[in-house]
Amino acid sequence: AMGRPARDLLTVLFSQGKMVTINDQLDEETAMEIAMELGIELEIEQEADFEDALADRLSDEENTDMETVTRPPIITVLGHVDHGKTTLVDRIRSSNVAAGEAGGITQHIAAYQVEHNGQKLTFVDTPGHAAFGEMRARGANVTDIIVLVVAADDGVMPQTVECISHAKAAGVPIVVAMNKCDLPGINEQRILTELSQHGVLPSEWGGDVEVIRVSALQGTGIDNLLETLLLTAELADLRSPVNAPADGVCLEAFRDEGRGPIAWGIVRQGTLKVGDLALCGPAYGRIRAMYTDKGVEIQSAGPSTPVKIAGLNEVPGAGDHLFVMTDIDEAREIAEQRRVRGRTAALSGRGGPKSLEDFFAGRDGAIKDLPLIIKADTPGSLEAIRGELEKFEHAEVRIKILHMGVGGVNESDVYLAASAGAIIIAFHVVAEDRAEALAGQEAVEIRRYKIIYNVTSDIRQALEGLLEPEK
Ligand code: GDP
Repeated sequence: AMGRPARDLLTVLFSQGKMVTINDQLDEETAMEIAMELGIELEIEQEADFEDALADRLSDEENTDMETVTRPPIITVLGHVDHGKTTLVDRIRSSNVAAGEAGGITQHIAAYQVEHNGQKLTFVDTPGHAAFGEMRARGANVTDIIVLVVAADDGVMPQTVECISHAKAAGVPIVVAMNKCDLPGINEQRILTELSQHGVLPSEWGGDVEVIRVSALQGTGIDNLLETLLLTAELADLRSPVNAPADGVCLEAFRDEGRGPIAWGIVRQGTLKVGDLALCGPAYGRIRAMYTDKGVEIQSAGPSTPVKIAGLNEVPGAGDHLFVMTDIDEAREIAEQRRVRGRTAALSGRGGPKSLEDFFAGRDGAIKDLPLIIKADTPGSLEAIRGELEKFEHAEVRIKILHMGVGGVNESDVYLAASAGAIIIAFHVVAEDRAEALAGQEAVEIRRYKIIYNVTSDIRQALEGLLEPEK
């Protein structure tokens, strides 16, 4: 657009110490600088981003003194495999399904609501913490509270640690369900110690995390767990406007033989009504019918309500935002644009650096956190790397280790990195095939190392090469 060969632009950039290739994108500021350098008048036009406009609309709504109501908490149950998530979730659900209610609880649903002492709680049935991370990477952060299931006979395991890291990155309060307390010979103190070691400090030890003893199998402690969740929700003061146009998130969707695309969603704010014009990812349409988690047909759904929706023209993806629109032409146009761009586009545009170089290039003098995820072959190497990184001191950069673990880089790591703009350090380990592919798709950088010194020296070099000139 400048009418100059790329070579000229690269020369200007090189002379400023910026190493770029012809495939890189320039930010506005750099483009302006080059234009000035080359004596070209440059005008930057910006395509209005619809999502941004909607986000503005929503925050405007939050800011106005629109009537808000207390909404039920949205809870996600996470934990290491076999620690009893499914059993716990089924137990909570079945205790709330009146005898003879349609379908019983055998049918899988993406989210459901229960009542305890007259108050509602919404549970999202996420298939694991990687899926939780994926939703977050897509900008769909629906969860208010995480129930971390830890089997008392097994303790804190690698996936438990991954769940803790996801919860912390999401900034969501944790309530621990210490499960399988019916088993003989369990050592509660050991579990509490292990939790503390991973930054989850039990309230009975002066921390801020409630640890509730339960047996999902026998149904003991469940009432106490639900009460604690309601209390946690009360402290968080979860409110939302009711009379606003609704927005929500699609949790899961499929094509039904007879009814066409069906989406399981959750209303985040406002009230969703039958007849509303909805836009959800690459899909749009008038809502033809809505059902509760118990299969009851409803006409409207308020904040935190899980709903099954019929009427969209396409099957949206998990994590797609649902917005109520007024203009059908606009809805159609946006949905079509998204279909053309494809799914991956929906994932881009998140903040945060994509690589170590980006991080340092993007500094602007302010103190910045450099989020890292570290995977290594042994606990010893993890500790050694952490030790080295802790020694690292810089006036403007703070290293923040989001997650550390023994083993190869997995999908959970990549989603965590994608949602937090973190870089993954792989020390003497490789990435699982699917994680590798995902990292490519999500533009997450995995840096491989065999020598600890190289980890720290890379960070230092990248930094020192670009230190801001002393004034
Ligand atoms: P998930 O992989 O976390 O969903 O775990 P599941 O709910 O499938 O449970 C794994 C195993 O632990 C199953 O055999 C359950 O019956 C058993 N289990 C779950 N909760 C309890 C409990 O409270 N006590 C005992 N003794 N076993 C349990």
